[in-house]
Amino acid sequence: MTREPRIVIIGAGIAGIATAVTLQRAGFHDFTILEKGDDVGGVWHWNHYPGLTCDIPSQLYQFSFAPKPDWAGIFAQGDEIQSYLRGVVEQFGLGDRLRLTSEVTSTVFSGATWHVVTTDGAELEADFVIAATGVLHHPFTPDIAGLDSFKGDLVHTARWDDDIETGGRRIAVIGNGSTGVQIVSALQRDAAHITHFVRTPQWVIWAPMGLSQPTVLARVLHRLPALHRRFYGVLLRGSRILTDIAVRPTWQRRLAQNYARWCLRLQIRDRELRDRLTPDYQPFCKRQVISASYYRAIRAGNADVVTAEIEEITPRGIRTADGREHDVDLLILATGFQAHNYMRPMKLHGRDGLDIDDAWAKGPRAYRMTAIPGFPNFFTVLGPNSPTGSVSLQYSSELTARYIAQWLQRFRDGEFGTVEVTEQATTKFNDDVAAALGPTVWNTGCNSWYLTDEGNIDLWPYDRKTMTAMLARPDDRDFHIA
Ligand SMILES: Cc1cc2nc3c(=O)[nH]c(=O)nc-3n(C[C@H](O)[C@H](O)[C@H](O)COP(=O)(O)OP(=O)(O)OC[C@H]3O[C@@H](n4cnc5c(N)ncnc54)[C@H](O)[C@@H]3O)c2cc1C
Repeated sequence: MTREPRIVIIGAGIAGIATAVTLQRAGFHDFTILEKGDDVGGVWHWNHYPGLTCDIPSQLYQFSFAPKPDWAGIFAQGDEIQSYLRGVVEQFGLGDRLRLTSEVTSTVFSGATWHVVTTDGAELEADFVIAATGVLHHPFTPDIAGLDSFKGDLVHTARWDDDIETGGRRIAVIGNGSTGVQIVSALQRDAAHITHFVRTPQWVIWAPMGLSQPTVLARVLHRLPALHRRFYGVLLRGSRILTDIAVRPTWQRRLAQNYARWCLRLQIRDRELRDRLTPDYQPFCKRQVISASYYRAIRAGNADVVTAEIEEITPRGIRTADGREHDVDLLILATGFQAHNYMRPMKLHGRDGLDIDDAWAKGPRAYRMTAIPGFPNFFTVLGPNSPTGSVSLQYSSELTARYIAQWLQRFRDGEFGTVEVTEQATTKFNDDVAAALGPTVWNTGCNSWYLTDEGNIDLWPYDRKTMTAMLARPDDRDFHIA
């Protein structure tokens, strides 16, 4: 007996789109993508602040099944990535299966199927649910005294208002992750004055982020798709350098770390400023910030870096612990996200009513990034322990989706009704991951958004080859198959 699995995919970012296309190409057509936003693209839809640029080369930051020959830049800007993702949705005809402005509020397992409810009142019955809900999704607003009292314009980068005037104004930017660095670099030139509030200095490495992609390359890649595929393969293999830097203390790591130190030394000649900007932890320990123009921007006459602690936001600006008042017209929070909220605040109840909040009381955990004990016929794509900056996210998403497709095929063949990963296999995987994280650069003594509230590092400590081997095919010994 064969039966068509009914599938719900939650989220239409990179992970959701990769999943939908991969399932479709594997012959599964009964799926619905539910997306909370009013457009696809995930973070590339929600974020549109000035200067938003992807720090992975655009020829690599794309799906294997949708190569784009003609990126404008070697590193793409946010809006180009968003329109690429929109184009992929069109190219693969996903529009009919996509419901925008449909936030999933509840996903409950009945014992045989999943019952999914959205904010617009829709109710869906599904045999499988795949959560591709992202991690950098809920903006984090710091609890700073007086924030509500500020009388100027206040905006979080993740909810940027395109109507906000930035030219000729006194601007304060709080936060110096990739976003803070990008927005300071973008706004400095036209601002009356820009002040960057930096609590913990970051290593900022130089790369030619503004470089255009040569048109001749686009023409060649367009004419020779086989060459383009090979080029993508070369980039994918070459990206191994990112894994080498991250997971083991190798000469590649030392070289990259020295490069980071040189970038600071060569670009900031003022000793006092350089001292203030020198982090007290190793380069690459936090999500590495890459910029071609940040150090130049903050050296400018209309720019300041303030490392004194923020004491209070006042109606006119910011008061720091050294007693200084910084008057500003526009206050920008580049303060990131609540990064470990995976899937929440959705109500998610698995077998026997198990609540995800209870299952994850000690922090998010999954088996090989994708399966959670107690949640049958439920998978995550780019779930817990997924890579950030060390293995291509598109590769990881497509691989995970192909893995899930194998379960779907077996369901279709009538081999099982429910599949659920065992607690034992999940514990073993997580123990192995914890051990493997030991020698990674993320474990060299910095505080970063990679750390969960429990102090675990929520990242992938292996290389792409190991990931591929782990998700090549399901290992039945690790699952309850009913
Ligand atoms: C500002 C910013 C810049 C970044 N820059 C880089 C970079 O330069 N290089 C890099 O490698 N990575 C970067 N990233 C990381 C980025 O998160 C990943 O590259 C990737 O886009 C994540 O894709 P995703 O599909 O997993 O998640 P997302 O893109 O977050 O997509 C998840 C989607 O799920 C939807 N969703 C969530 N909950 C629900 C629900 N309950 N119901 C319905 N829909 C829901 C969300 O609306 C969202 O559209 C950046 C992230 C941010 C925020």
